[in-house]
Amino acid sequence: MQSLYDLNYEQMGDFAQSMGWKRFRGHQIFQWLYRERVTDVDAMTNLSKETRSILKERFVIDSLKVVKKQVSFDGTTKFLFQTEDGSLLESVMMVFDYGRSVCVSSQVGCNMGCAFCASGLTKKRRNLTSGEMVAQFLNIQRELDKEGQRLSHIVVMGTGEPFDNYENVMNFLATVNHDRGLGIGSRHITISTCGVVPRIYKFADEHTQYNLAISLHAPNDELRSKLMPINQAYPLSELMKAIRYYGQENNRRLTFEYILLKGVNDQPQHARQLSQLLHGLNAYVNLIPYNSVDEKQFKSVTRQEAMVFYDLLMKNNVRCTIRKEHGQDIDAACGQLRINEIKKGLGQ
Ligand code: SAH
Repeated sequence: MQSLYDLNYEQMGDFAQSMGWKRFRGHQIFQWLYRERVTDVDAMTNLSKETRSILKERFVIDSLKVVKKQVSFDGTTKFLFQTEDGSLLESVMMVFDYGRSVCVSSQVGCNMGCAFCASGLTKKRRNLTSGEMVAQFLNIQRELDKEGQRLSHIVVMGTGEPFDNYENVMNFLATVNHDRGLGIGSRHITISTCGVVPRIYKFADEHTQYNLAISLHAPNDELRSKLMPINQAYPLSELMKAIRYYGQENNRRLTFEYILLKGVNDQPQHARQLSQLLHGLNAYVNLIPYNSVDEKQFKSVTRQEAMVFYDLLMKNNVRCTIRKEHGQDIDAACGQLRINEIKKGLGQ
């Protein structure tokens, strides 16, 4: 059954109209879902009994079940959810000094096949609906409501490639961004892509104000194609052209993610190549310590080795930071909790 979370503000108005109700009715429902965060249609007390029973016949509200929760000493909390069709997906809540951020999954499994990533260990089963992405957010927000806390930031960096599920991701973001609902500011929202070039152009043309992060991880085609199969379809020259177009259209700073893999992409020549590649862009590099994954042979660099790489980039005028690690004592790597539970036979 469809979820009410699948409909954004406009669509909720359209639905009400299609039922012969005032658009305003739809907007009331939207406010019940996102301001009051009710999970039961009968709690929408300003709707008539008849309206409520029509809603109940056609829609569910929340289609996700929390099946596991892991809490780290640093506050990072991983949630494993199960969908109505038995799929498993995970979301992570992280605590920063600027607020609380949720990392949302966009697909069940992933087809991008990056060599280092746990998410791609299972092929994509399906795209998540926008309602299932909204439900990840709201399940966590409802827990935080009990402590008087709120999620302030969203990163679409969980399992899946958001630009391989473009419409649903955009619809989800329209809902959480809407000021009659959760009101998460555009600049507090980040979408991360491995480089699906046609969608970068599409995204650039939409002028949404969401942040864009590019998973780069290698500064030359030879290495990048080995680590990330998407590079065989869209090599660096095409990726960088699309990124420059995005930059012209949006005048926003771009984030590049770069996992430091020991002995693979962490050498001085890689830092030099990276600074050449990013020359002239309003770019910022996020150096990421690798979260080791049992099935993969890659190793992370030490803090000291990361500092050497960082210094080389800074010397070459590339702004960068080393990402702080979160949730080291729980299944921190992307997709790891899900994979571990699949191995135990909990779901797929
Ligand atoms: N498909 C999208 C979003 C999901 S992955 C993308 O590729 O950007 C989110 C980020 O986590 C990407 O930069 C990805 O390369 C990185 N990542 C994947 N596995 C990791 C691991 N084991 N340790 C650290 N970062 C990882």
